[in-house]
Amino acid sequence: MTELEDKRPATVRFAPSPTGYIHIGNARTALFNWLFARQNHGEFILRFDDTDEARSKTEFADAIRADLEWLGIEPDTVAWQSKRADAYAAAADQLREAGLLYACYETGEELERRRKLRLARRLPPVYGREALKLTDEDRAKLEADGRKPHWRFLLPNYADSPFETRRTEIHWDDLVRGPQTVDLASMSDPVLVREDGTYLYTLPSVVDDIEMGVTHIIRGDDHVTNTGAQIALFRALGSDAPAFGHHNLLTAATGEGLSKRSSALSIGALREAGYEPMAINSLAVLIGTSESVAAMPSMAALLELFRPESASKSAAKFDPAELTTLNRALVHDLSFKTVAKRLESLGISGQKAEPFWNAVRKNIDFVQDVSRWWAVVEDGPANEERLDGDDVDFAREAFLLLPAEPWDHETWTAWTNAVKAQTGRKGRALFMPLRIALTGIRSGPELADLLPLIGREGTLARRP
Ligand code: GLU
Repeated sequence: MTELEDKRPATVRFAPSPTGYIHIGNARTALFNWLFARQNHGEFILRFDDTDEARSKTEFADAIRADLEWLGIEPDTVAWQSKRADAYAAAADQLREAGLLYACYETGEELERRRKLRLARRLPPVYGREALKLTDEDRAKLEADGRKPHWRFLLPNYADSPFETRRTEIHWDDLVRGPQTVDLASMSDPVLVREDGTYLYTLPSVVDDIEMGVTHIIRGDDHVTNTGAQIALFRALGSDAPAFGHHNLLTAATGEGLSKRSSALSIGALREAGYEPMAINSLAVLIGTSESVAAMPSMAALLELFRPESASKSAAKFDPAELTTLNRALVHDLSFKTVAKRLESLGISGQKAEPFWNAVRKNIDFVQDVSRWWAVVEDGPANEERLDGDDVDFAREAFLLLPAEPWDHETWTAWTNAVKAQTGRKGRALFMPLRIALTGIRSGPELADLLPLIGREGTLARRP
């Protein structure tokens, strides 16, 4: 490779099928691509794999774009496979002319019967290329009977006769998994075109990767075996294969794969639940790698840590509780400036808003949790805890010792010193009844911070 080629910027693509909402596992693939592109001054293509017309929906494609944008991923290009049928037809013709795409007429049942037969004879259960034996007459007859062909790609796994396959290794140096080998003799010729003329994912994907100049294909490791056939297809279409990277997948806590159909872990649902995008990004990228999972405050910070080869080879379990831990860590460090608009939309604005945020942010898991504390400051104690026994009289007496205004951060110490001197109470016996009287909750933000926000009048109104 010349130095110039070596410095060629990367072009990557994220190729979701818009048949559902994306989840954190899809976000992992998108982020691996996005971060890789950013690290290599490259380009990120969002390419909708929407050739399955029956299941693809514009509404899902729109949601995927919005979800990616919310996560901080802005594609340089957006492409739709459904609009590129001509390019796929031309590639299919090219393969047909080269004798590499052949018509097959078997039904699903026929294929299944043959598969069982091969297994009984201890042969690998791959397609035996029976359709290659059909004569023009046979084909004409089948079509006269109303049978329509599907089309298979003839894998280059033989020397002289396609009926005598031999071990044919395809090698690539995977960006994540290191050196990989797939034997083309161990697989069936893939179907590229269905009976109804629509394309399965393989051909459009390779045609687009060639035409869009994709240099690195980064995707889940469920595609490792497809890669062998795809590399053969790149070559059959006269192109070098790009580099590949297959990252491990995320599974639910049960070990089950995440599915676009189960919406609980969709990015949209996590956004609705109030998670910060960087909590999702941090977990989606760092889980199942040799890096420890920590809350990264920005894409730039995540970029510093990201190395595709740090992903491990086994699946990574995704634990939603971990997401909350990361969210809490991020929220604790969010500046007022970053959240001011969101606070405003929760009805929190004015002079108090900033000191209020600084007082409560270390006590919440989600930004929207501020509402509970805003209500405590503005409206009065919550109904969670009540004073009882001696504490009632103690608090009544203590409230008579409230210092005069103006109030500031020192007021709490001044007040509690006075209460201590007068009543002899100290430590928890002194603070807890006051906390409960003021907030109605046993734990929470520093009272030294809350007291000036509640103000003297508001505090007096809370005297039991
Ligand atoms: N639509 C495919 C998937 O989501 C794309 C695979 C690929 O990136 O090549 O699995």
